[in-house]
Amino acid sequence: MVIKPNEPLANHTTLKIGGRAAFFAEPENLCEVKELIGQAREKSQPFFVLGAGSNLLVRDEGFNGIVISTWKLNRISRTGKYLLAESGVLVSQILNFGVKYNLAGFEFLAGIPGSLGGVLLMNSGVKEKSVSHVVAGIKVLDENLEEVELVAAEASFSYRSSGLSRFPFVVSASLEARTVERNDEIKEIINAQILERIKGQPRGYPSAGSIFKNPVGDAAGRLIESAGCKGWRRGGAIVSDKHANFILNIDHATAADVLGLIDKVQEAVYAKFSVNLDLEIKIL
Ligand SMILES: Cc1cc2nc3c(=O)[nH]c(=O)nc-3n(C[C@H](O)[C@H](O)[C@H](O)COP(=O)(O)OP(=O)(O)OC[C@H]3O[C@@H](n4cnc5c(N)ncnc54)[C@H](O)[C@@H]3O)c2cc1C
Repeated sequence: MVIKPNEPLANHTTLKIGGRAAFFAEPENLCEVKELIGQAREKSQPFFVLGAGSNLLVRDEGFNGIVISTWKLNRISRTGKYLLAESGVLVSQILNFGVKYNLAGFEFLAGIPGSLGGVLLMNSGVKEKSVSHVVAGIKVLDENLEEVELVAAEASFSYRSSGLSRFPFVVSASLEARTVERNDEIKEIINAQILERIKGQPRGYPSAGSIFKNPVGDAAGRLIESAGCKGWRRGGAIVSDKHANFILNIDHATAADVLGLIDKVQEAVYAKFSVNLDLEIKIL
């Protein structure tokens, strides 16, 4: 297994920001994952599981522990109408697999640049639908590093959150599809979703998608825009003009730049609407 010392984490997040990890491991199977977590615990070393890094801000000082990347845990298969995937499988791979085997139902995830592990942890999705609507079962490692099968209800999914964070590692999941005669319909919906995103979301600069969760009954982007924060800049980070809930890394931004903007935006929205914006992104 590859374990890199002193690895820059900016290379492993979509925001392209952050310091180094003391160690960066790329396990290729579950035995290696268990070994890594076991060793980290023995040495009282913190560990962090990294998917595609698309919902993550890594601090400038980096992480003095071991980052376990899931990118090589990427096997995908099917049994009837169920798609089975390891946690490092990317959303794009799931969609391609669906197109290849006429398995429909995952198209709403199109354009989300995450891995299955991250999508499950975050209960990712769009306004009307999230991954919780298509998950049948999930395999996790429990505290004793035993493999445990959960049914979807045991994952305690809620808006952009799940109870899976109480387990040290998400191994794999089965997603329930609809089998269709022809894949044209699947392709059309995926293309339409991607076009929607191109219209509504900023492109061309690194980001982590939406920074804040939408408060109940409202949209964080609307509140941020109404509070006059669009275009606010700190160092190399800017609040997007196109979608106010995105912070873009336009010129070698640091994590401190992004965190500073987050604070300012939260203050402005609270001052105008008395609403506390909660973070959707994770901070390491
Ligand atoms: C341009 C853009 C658009 C986006 N659009 C959307 C959208 O429409 N809807 C939406 O919901 N999100 C969206 N996102 C956010 C992001 O893509 C999702 O939250 C995604 O699911 C994160 O997956 P990831 O693999 O990148 O997770 P990471 O960022 O790597 O990790 C997220 C969390 O999951 C944990 N984790 C990951 N894998 C595992 C595992 N195997 N076991 C245990 N813990 C694990 C990490 O420790 C971390 O806490 C967008 C992001 C970008 C950059």
